Amino acid sequence: MSAMMQPTGGDPRLTVALTFDHDAISSEVERGGGPVLISRGEFGPRVGVPRILDLLDRHHIAATFFVPGHTVVTFPDSVAAIVAAGHEVGCHGWAHEDLAKLDRATLRDVMLRSAEAVAAASGRPPRGFRAPYWSLSDEVLELVDELGFTYDSSLMADDLHLYRVRRGDVHDVRGSRLGEPGRVVEVPISWSLDDWPHFEPGRQGVGPLSAPSKVEEIWKAELQYAHRHEAGGVLTLTMHPEAIGRGHRIALLERFVEMAETLDGVAFERLDRVVGRWESAHPRAEPTRPG
Ligand SMILES: [Zn+2]
Repeated sequence: MSAMMQPTGGDPRLTVALTFDHDAISSEVERGGGPVLISRGEFGPRVGVPRILDLLDRHHIAATFFVPGHTVVTFPDSVAAIVAAGHEVGCHGWAHEDLAKLDRATLRDVMLRSAEAVAAASGRPPRGFRAPYWSLSDEVLELVDELGFTYDSSLMADDLHLYRVRRGDVHDVRGSRLGEPGRVVEVPISWSLDDWPHFEPGRQGVGPLSAPSKVEEIWKAELQYAHRHEAGGVLTLTMHPEAIGRGHRIALLERFVEMAETLDGVAFERLDRVVGRWESAHPRAEPTRPG
């Protein structure tokens, strides 16, 4: 038996959440990309998603896909296959807009339409939201709360532990005043745990195109550290079917999964279930009354 401390309540010692942003061609359509860039996105539903679903099925893993409304209506069969395989579908804008740049009326419309599209495709209202480009504003976070999302997964204040998104921060170069935790739960993310900045070149083919061995070293070290030192933690990877779906990279993901499977007390879980478990263990404190 392991001497390492186990979290209470029978929870896994470490939860690994595999998340996929199914952007497909949405961002290139929104930005006016030509046929080459559109085809790069098309690789996602055409090749990447089937490879991912096959891997998840073979390892009996339930995962979370954040899907723009544009992908839902353009590639309905791809989204249907994700839903049929038992995975969670969350919101990711309509056409992968930079939401922080939208005016309030447009922003509200985008958030509502994308939530409705995901609900229609998945058969239930989405619980999770992830900002395209991880670009957020206070207004976006207000709408995430107002529209009833349970959780956001776009912020970076922690690495392995969920927390409640603060409301009412006032920032000033002389000193910021931090607000109070609100209702919405945060599943923190990191660029280092995202496949895109490691792998994908910019729009003209110039960029990192890292070897999987580099990313494997980073992701496995995060996994080992979390497993050893952060009982009850949640390690969240962010991937894109058009990036991780390439042969040399999906092989990396499989090696990562296989390593996690060798560790004692590691479970793979959809984010809505991770968040549900966390909320039960961390009931919300009564909001402080204004003075
Ligand atoms: Zn995205």
